[in-house]
Amino acid sequence: MKKKRIEYNCEVFQEYLVDYLDEDLPAELSIELEKHRMVCRECARLVKTLRRIIYELKKLSYYETEESVVARIHTSLKIKRWKRK
Ligand SMILES: [Zn+2]
Repeated sequence: MKKKRIEYNCEVFQEYLVDYLDEDLPAELSIELEKHRMVCRECARLVKTLRRIIYELKKLSYYETEESVVARIHTSLKIKRWKRK
């Protein structure tokens, strides 16, 4: 198995952020991201904010499927990331 050494900085964290919020990551990876979140105030706040937004959106769109709400967040996150570069 090829092992790639990854440095878990903010950029990497945000790259995986959506999957991290979805809890759709291998345990090993999510542990590493968790570690970064513990030491990085900015990323910790980002996670907190996004979790609240997702929670509120799910509450608001009670009659919509969860998937469409999550999909919309994914899209807006991707747009944000694009614009920053
Ligand atoms: Zn960070």
